[in-house]
Amino acid sequence: MRYSTLDLLRLKQSADLYGRICRHTTLRKSGRLYSGKCPFPDHDDRNASFVFDPVSNSFRCYSTACGRSGSIIDWMMEFEGFSSFADAVEALGGAQIARDQCWQDKQQKLVQDNKVLAAARTASTQEKARQAAYKIFSAGTELSGSVAETYLREARGLGDIPLPGAVLRFAADLPYWAETAKGRFEIIHHGPALLAAFQNKQGRFAAVHQTWLNADGSGKIKLSLEDGLRLPAKKIRGPYMGASLRLGPPAPVMGVGEGIETCLSCAPFGLSCWCAGSLGNLVGSGKPDGICEPHPVRTGHLLPSRQPDMASARAFLPFEARSMIVLADSDTKDLEALKAQLERAVRRLRFEERSAQILWPPLGMDMNDWILANGRDAA
Ligand SMILES: [Zn+2]
Repeated sequence: MRYSTLDLLRLKQSADLYGRICRHTTLRKSGRLYSGKCPFPDHDDRNASFVFDPVSNSFRCYSTACGRSGSIIDWMMEFEGFSSFADAVEALGGAQIARDQCWQDKQQKLVQDNKVLAAARTASTQEKARQAAYKIFSAGTELSGSVAETYLREARGLGDIPLPGAVLRFAADLPYWAETAKGRFEIIHHGPALLAAFQNKQGRFAAVHQTWLNADGSGKIKLSLEDGLRLPAKKIRGPYMGASLRLGPPAPVMGVGEGIETCLSCAPFGLSCWCAGSLGNLVGSGKPDGICEPHPVRTGHLLPSRQPDMASARAFLPFEARSMIVLADSDTKDLEALKAQLERAVRRLRFEERSAQILWPPLGMDMNDWILANGRDAA
């Protein structure tokens, strides 16, 4: 059996050397040490030359004629007659300790292997999703002249603003998959859709944002299951967390928002915006051990943490953007929670040494509603 240095150290430190010595001589406390007559039979000690040190758990005889010293192992071999180091260690329970250690090492390796395996599986699943998303996006056609362009320019009131053709595309007949029963996925609709490409930090395609539209581009499609459950008109496919829709050029002052329409609505005012696609990707996660305040309206609930977890994924924003405007959508069910989350986004941006502020449209509206309601002169 081989023992690690650490195992031996633990064993030597934890063994009761004091008790073993006291069976053969009387030790008295003297300062931080214990001293007494040397117990070795061949040393007829009359001067209390023998010392036990409780800190190092070791003994020493200061008589030049004897001079024995060492740890519990030395004591066992020299005084108690153990013939080998290994025997002494074994008698102290070393084998058990080593076995425990060996078991722990194995467990640790197993956990580590599983983590590596899980990460590889996640990476492989994500890469498959990314490729499927890319297939959808690259199968799309130019936005120009499409129903999706009609939707943005007319239904969302964006007029003649330049639309980023590399990021936005059109699918004439995109299938919509939904889980119609537990574990059963079916195409419940297909029709025209606006496509948008998420790019990660490196500029690589990451995911596709899909917005299904009415056939005439007059608005988003309204879909529901037979039991009446409403389905979202927007879906993202691919690993988009940490990636963003680059709807405008990098600039010193930029906007970032959750929805494509909101972000594009800022273009007429000269504000270049990148889009996060979801609130989670806009604000990042809260610090795991962060403080959550009580919800001021919903008794017994806590607000989301305002403290950012800087390691979590959040929509990538260009370095050039030193001043960020976070675009809030006030058409939320829980305004207090949204405020806390956007505050987190602002704090995170400030940690990145950017200046940041939140732009709030009036209650119950998103930025696009607001601009539509007020016309182009609103801001
Ligand atoms: Zn001695």
